Amino acid sequence: MPSSDLPRFDTAALRAQDAAHHLHPFTDTQSLNASGTRIIVRGAGVRIWDSDGHEIIDGMSGLWCVNLGYGRQDLVDAATRQMQTLPFYNAFFKTTTVPAIELASLLTEIAPPGFQHVFFTNSGSEGNDTIIRLVRRYWDLMGQPRRKTIISRRNAYHGSTLGGASLGGMSGMHAQGDLPIPGIVHIDQPYQLQHGHAGESAEHFGLRAASWLEAKIRELGPENVAAFIGEPVQGAGGVIIPPASYWPEIQRICDHYGILLVSDEVICGFGRLGHWFGCQHPHIGTRPDLITFAKGVTSGYLPLGGVLVGERIAKVLIERGGEFQHGFTYSGHPTCCAVAVANVQAMRREGVIERVAQDLAPYLATAFGTLADHPLVGDVQSLGMVAGLVLYKDKASRTLFDAELGVGYRCRDHCFQNGVVMRAVEERMIIAPPLVMTHEDIDEMVRRIRRSLDDTWAGLRADGLI
Ligand SMILES: *Cc1c(COP(=O)(O)O)cnc(C)c1O
Repeated sequence: MPSSDLPRFDTAALRAQDAAHHLHPFTDTQSLNASGTRIIVRGAGVRIWDSDGHEIIDGMSGLWCVNLGYGRQDLVDAATRQMQTLPFYNAFFKTTTVPAIELASLLTEIAPPGFQHVFFTNSGSEGNDTIIRLVRRYWDLMGQPRRKTIISRRNAYHGSTLGGASLGGMSGMHAQGDLPIPGIVHIDQPYQLQHGHAGESAEHFGLRAASWLEAKIRELGPENVAAFIGEPVQGAGGVIIPPASYWPEIQRICDHYGILLVSDEVICGFGRLGHWFGCQHPHIGTRPDLITFAKGVTSGYLPLGGVLVGERIAKVLIERGGEFQHGFTYSGHPTCCAVAVANVQAMRREGVIERVAQDLAPYLATAFGTLADHPLVGDVQSLGMVAGLVLYKDKASRTLFDAELGVGYRCRDHCFQNGVVMRAVEERMIIAPPLVMTHEDIDEMVRRIRRSLDDTWAGLRADGLI
């Protein structure tokens, strides 16, 4: 739609109101208020528009969630129909709703083998809080109540509730509010740039990174360890794609010590890696006991999350557990579930997963890969529809910029100016575009990224920083 057809917005007035009243998540409010927020007013397909009519390719699918893109009438219709019929009813008191029934059975159809049960939440964070409750309850019921500790990884992201932030390994989050809560410990992430040895092969590094789990289990005593949790590919941590040797070795270690394996698929689920769940990608190849999902399950049109509970756990919980003392008012919210059902059905009908695996992911890998020749850029990598690169001060000697300079944020700002959303995570620039991009969309996105890298380079030159 040409910008002249958009309703007019008084950007300055909206910004002032926002600054006066809205505390943004994960934001330094003082510095945001000084610069002013960007107000997004419309989305269609893989593009969004701001209140000044500026068109932007959404390289991040909103926040890793708008997998089918914006403006899907079928998802709007599913929500409308359900809201007209029954906007809400609960699942607590021997009651349920049709969309919750439909979604639970649909999710077990697309899940890996061994999953027949689903617990619904409103978000990924609540899904991971549910994971903590479930694994501890499971081991209590198994007569091994000492198995309490959950092992996670530094720089993992598992949400922002007290439980989710504790499972996550974000040091900045832990520093605010005395986290993690007891019983959660962290090992290092499989990020070769940070932890690799000179000349070490990726395969060797992957095995070495997995061995940190075994060392931690032995240190704690296997009889005290309940579970290991990880994202197949770390998202918010900066699209950290582990070597192919990593996850099979993690699986072997979990099996050996009888520890539950939790796959946090909040990003990697629902086609992001070209499979319904990331653990099914041959590069990952795990058999988790529990799967956390959210984000892409509704393509972000409404909030919904949950946990797929493997039969090993579900059977014990159901047959021996009595009442599970956990749930949310909106667990199984019928309108959210109706949108999720429509979203999953559309993905199936339109062959979105197959297209990502066979066509889009290889196309993105090649197109994004061309950025490797840029003087600032190294370590270009992708898996499915997530990709990342590293900004180097000196590529030849692999020297990074001083973190204080915020070079990633400079680059991110140029990306916005050039009409593409890209996210900055320390030295890494990352994307997770919608799964419905055309080849032309990908080409245009990569052109805009290259222009932004050029602008970043020119700015650093002008400031005497390179
Ligand atoms: C976003 C995210 C979460 C948290 O989900 P919310 O819906 O924001 O609570 C958990 N795990 C991963 C891997 C995520 O990316």
